Amino acid sequence: MQKTLMEHLRESELAQQWQAVETAATLEAMMAAAWVLARALVLLLMRQVLEARAAQPVSWPHCEACGRRLRSKGWARRQWTGVVGTLKWQRRVGRCPSGCNIGQVAPLDRALGLEAYARTSVGLKERACLLAVLVPFDLAARLLARLTAVEVSAGGIWSWVQARGCQAIVQLDKELARLAAGEPPAPEVLAAEVAALPLMLGADGVKVPFRAHGGHPGGAIAWREVKVGVLARFDQRVQESGKPVFTLKQRRVVAVLGNIEALKPRLWLEALRQSIEQAPRVVWLSDGGTGLWRVFRELFGGLATGILDFYHAVQNVWKAVKVWKDGRSRRARTWWQWARRRMRYGTVDDVLVELYVERAKESLRPAVRQALENLCAYLETHREHLDYARCRREGLPIGSGCMESACKWLIQQRFKGVGMRWSESGFNHLLHLRLAWANERFDSLFACASPNL
Ligand SMILES: [Zn+2]
Repeated sequence: MQKTLMEHLRESELAQQWQAVETAATLEAMMAAAWVLARALVLLLMRQVLEARAAQPVSWPHCEACGRRLRSKGWARRQWTGVVGTLKWQRRVGRCPSGCNIGQVAPLDRALGLEAYARTSVGLKERACLLAVLVPFDLAARLLARLTAVEVSAGGIWSWVQARGCQAIVQLDKELARLAAGEPPAPEVLAAEVAALPLMLGADGVKVPFRAHGGHPGGAIAWREVKVGVLARFDQRVQESGKPVFTLKQRRVVAVLGNIEALKPRLWLEALRQSIEQAPRVVWLSDGGTGLWRVFRELFGGLATGILDFYHAVQNVWKAVKVWKDGRSRRARTWWQWARRRMRYGTVDDVLVELYVERAKESLRPAVRQALENLCAYLETHREHLDYARCRREGLPIGSGCMESACKWLIQQRFKGVGMRWSESGFNHLLHLRLAWANERFDSLFACASPNL
């Protein structure tokens, strides 16, 4: 009679784990015990297959240095850790008979695609790095132990993040160099319904706490600015009340520890990847920061419609009106509300005309004159970016909040925790992994990993 799997297990070296399943009192306990058994079974199975392969005759390769055939030096232990645990097995190693300095060679390792010093599966590193992208390193280590069966120190995860982050930076630098030499990046493949949506662009700056020069993690803070750019596609739906609702369909972010000049090529590279020149509509949404509007003019002036954040614009109007019509008076509020409505549903020119008339009066107090001049200059500078009635007709958003919150979320959520102080390289490596994750390119950084192990 053929033995059942249960009978095999009962008599195997997994008898103990099997018994734990058999005697589990509750369903939860049974699942937990079965999971322990399954992991042990994976390791046992792999060890047996590896031992069988190791037992096969070895065809020794030739020495890379002198060309002589390598000679066996007997068996040596190998260890490798994946998501289910640590595998240990033995295989033959050889050396050059002439004593060339090529070290020990294990043909089975090579056949398995195992690099000489690899002790950890790429899949495990990928998961650890993904956790570190989302939460602090010590928490990532605890979560990893909880979710897999493997203990890795926070420092171990940190070093994997440095290595992969460095790889991501090198890759980006190559693409930027190619772009500078006139070679555009390969466009991202977009679903037809995404490609048909308008492309919204924006940028913002966020301050991040760094260690003061040469300082230690607990020392003084040096705040440095990180520039973030966002490229998003929104779907617009009009509610029954007539209010438009925007749903994010796709978002790509770029970021750099540096100034706006450093952001520009990164933003342009990503814009090309998002096929900006084929987009049915391109919109630049931003608040009043002059540096940001310079990016708009220099990169996207001919391609995009600029929209100044509505709330920012009317806030500036209020600032002047407060001076002009005396603080919180009823008159100030009434006039501001009128101007606000004209800007939203009519034209900013109506507001400007009123301001010009007022400004022409000789009896103005100097402070009022100054406030009105400032407001006029501001509205004139952005006259082209204040056509909110047109935005309404064409289904475009008038607030840059969605862009700014993307910037804040990218940086704030991970880099501004209590007591955090970053070193420049530590920040950059993690930032580039976080960008890869936010842009759905994390997997390609770990492309050789199998999906699960
Ligand atoms: Zn040799």
